[in-house]
Amino acid sequence: MESGFTSKDTYLSHFNPRDYLEKYYNFGSSHSAENKILRHLLKNLFKIFCLDGLKGDLLIDIGSGPTIYQLLSACESFKEIIATDYTDQNLQELEKWLKKEPGAFDWSPVVTYVCELEGNRVKGPEKEEKLRRAVKQVLKCDVTQSRPLGAVSLPLADCLLSTLCLDAACPDLPAFCTALKNLGSLLKPGGFLVIVDALKSSYYMIGEQRFSSLCLGREAVEAAVIEAGYTIKQFEEISQSYSSTMADNEGLFLLVGQKPSRSV
Ligand code: SAH
Repeated sequence: MESGFTSKDTYLSHFNPRDYLEKYYNFGSSHSAENKILRHLLKNLFKIFCLDGLKGDLLIDIGSGPTIYQLLSACESFKEIIATDYTDQNLQELEKWLKKEPGAFDWSPVVTYVCELEGNRVKGPEKEEKLRRAVKQVLKCDVTQSRPLGAVSLPLADCLLSTLCLDAACPDLPAFCTALKNLGSLLKPGGFLVIVDALKSSYYMIGEQRFSSLCLGREAVEAAVIEAGYTIKQFEEISQSYSSTMADNEGLFLLVGQKPSRSV
């Protein structure tokens, strides 16, 4: 029996980007829980970035993993995007898609769905090119560090996005809160924080491989975000859970927070 929370080393040695993509983002015609969740997330992100008017120059995506779905609507509202992750294999998988290399994951069904949400102004391939142009850098990051992107010097971001990363990266509530504070160092005063994560999940599976998840309910998430110094602008709950073979979550949340304009 394994004990303890999944370590960063385990992410380096056991997080398989291809398996993760096939299990969670294979957006075929099936009515799986994973597809339903993905549609909910895409709709919510479309609303935030395209309808509510959250926009700016720079968006940094924290813990991107091997995925780009979370950036499809964001690239309509931000001029530049930086994708980041802790593991090299996820960064390589992202680069593969960005550079259209052979064997890159096929996001086209997901892209088509987002084009529909956005009113079919452009077709899928054009949308993909727009996102590829917007992603300026792919960088290593570690949310447990006070400088999550290390020594690289970047302008402060107008928005930070993080989908399904913090529950995986933080073993307990104090670590979750510290990670939120660490991320704040990358954000402009008045900038926005958009977090998506599972509610009340203690693990998730990628095939036979089990990864820990920090089990948090809405109250704990909101308290940590406030404790880390943000104000909460929006909190949405998605009641859909992953398939029981994939995770033990009770829905997901999507939170929009804001860093105060100046410290009090
Ligand atoms: N954002 C993607 C991937 C989530 S999977 C999505 O929405 O599906 C969880 C990700 O968290 C993995 O890519 C893993 O490498 C990353 N991660 C784990 N620990 C981390 C840490 N300390 N800092 C940054 N990212 C981390």
